[in-house]
Amino acid sequence: MNSEVMNFMNTLKAHNPNEPEFHQAVYEFISSVMPFIEKNPQYRKYKILERMVEPERVIIFRIPWVDDQGEIQVNRGFRVEVNSAIGPFKGGLRLHPSVNLSVLKFLGFEQVYKNALTGLPMGGGKGGSDFDPKGKSDNEVMRFCQSFMLELFRYIGPNTDIPAGDIGFGAREVGYCFGMYKKIMNEFTGVFTGKSTDWGGSFIRPEATGYGSVYFAQEMLKTRSENLDKKICLVSASGNVAQYTVEKLIQLGAKPVTFSDSDGYIYDESGINKEKLDFVMHLKNVCRGRIKEYTEKFRDAIYTPVDKTLDHNPLWNHKADCAFPCATQNEINKKDALNLLQNGVYLVSEGANMPTTPEGVHQFLAAKILYGPGKAANAGGVAVSGLEMSQNSQRLSWERAEVDRRLHQIMQKIHNQCVKYGKEGNFTHYVNGANIAGFVRVANAMIDQGIV
Ligand code: NDP
Repeated sequence: MNSEVMNFMNTLKAHNPNEPEFHQAVYEFISSVMPFIEKNPQYRKYKILERMVEPERVIIFRIPWVDDQGEIQVNRGFRVEVNSAIGPFKGGLRLHPSVNLSVLKFLGFEQVYKNALTGLPMGGGKGGSDFDPKGKSDNEVMRFCQSFMLELFRYIGPNTDIPAGDIGFGAREVGYCFGMYKKIMNEFTGVFTGKSTDWGGSFIRPEATGYGSVYFAQEMLKTRSENLDKKICLVSASGNVAQYTVEKLIQLGAKPVTFSDSDGYIYDESGINKEKLDFVMHLKNVCRGRIKEYTEKFRDAIYTPVDKTLDHNPLWNHKADCAFPCATQNEINKKDALNLLQNGVYLVSEGANMPTTPEGVHQFLAAKILYGPGKAANAGGVAVSGLEMSQNSQRLSWERAEVDRRLHQIMQKIHNQCVKYGKEGNFTHYVNGANIAGFVRVANAMIDQGIV
């Protein structure tokens, strides 16, 4: 580790103890940016990095609600508003038992530079709760969301902070939260993105993150004069991002062969086609079932339950060309990365945020494969959120094809910026490219706006 990076990290860790995910995200970022700052010392003078790692505001609050048995439950709510230099805070809400301050600070930090890469005027933030929507009735989820909004409404607004979805926070949760916000504020504004298209949402927003990560993969392949046709693809998870990643892969002639959830994964050697995907969408989005049920319907597929005694995830240990991790942070460790490389994978496009550990990333970079980090590859979701905000401001709704065209164009531009800042001979270091391109935009805005 370069000594300047080490000193910076030591100070950060002392100041923010017990936040390993946040440390990991900052470490990855400054490892790219520090050498760039050495060549561009104006950023040092303005203490840009020191300011960037301190969120503008962190809110932590109590969320009491009553379950179906009449018992009072208490969860913890968060909103981390990290940086508003280029626009109002923007970033999703996550509902998962693993949510804590460290996870949300890492996600909010990543969000700032991802949003900058889209070229749209959006700052970065993230929020959520340790509430687990799994196994809860619709009424319980609604009561939780209403209690969550009774506090969160004070800090958000269409020109201040615009939340969206993330793990455990889909169309249902956006609806309940938006409804409560509207009632409290007595106004109908674009305070959330990911709304239903019947009441202010944008076409293609549900598809955007998955489609975007596939468009990014297409751009990476183009640099080697290749495309996705007939490529065997490993996809993790079976939530929003995974479903639309698989949909776009099928449309482009690729062959996705896996889906997973937190209990296990399915491997379907013959390929997941449109009919099988429709089954998964219904299973997950309507029945809220488990991925194991796939093998009850499609009997050639194999289900493997999670085995916590293993030091790797067997999902990443199949012959393939491409991998699309779409579940959660640190789902690919060093062993998984080595397994992927040994099985012939030479493209990784991250639908999830920070799904690869630093040791795993090191393996991908050392092997010089096409490795698209989440900050760039999954920016399609927030890009279309930005387009949803534009449509809301104009009280217009663009056609599906128009939004998809713009998404495609934004992903191409993000790819080009990564190449511009990450080119090393004939290899593109997409991690450096994404970090430096995002940094430059935010840092310049911070300098313009003075010491605030
Ligand atoms: P969903 O809640 O729709 O789906 C999450 C999926 O990941 C589920 O299949 C879930 O399984 C699985 N999962 C979650 N946590 C774990 C875990 N600890 N171990 C194994 N599997 C897990 O979320 P999204 O699809 O929206 O989000 C997935 C990832 O994409 C996240 O990293 C998110 O931050 C990122 N992302 C999402 C964007 C969006 O627009 N939605 C935008 C950019 C990034 P189970 O149901 O069993 O929990």
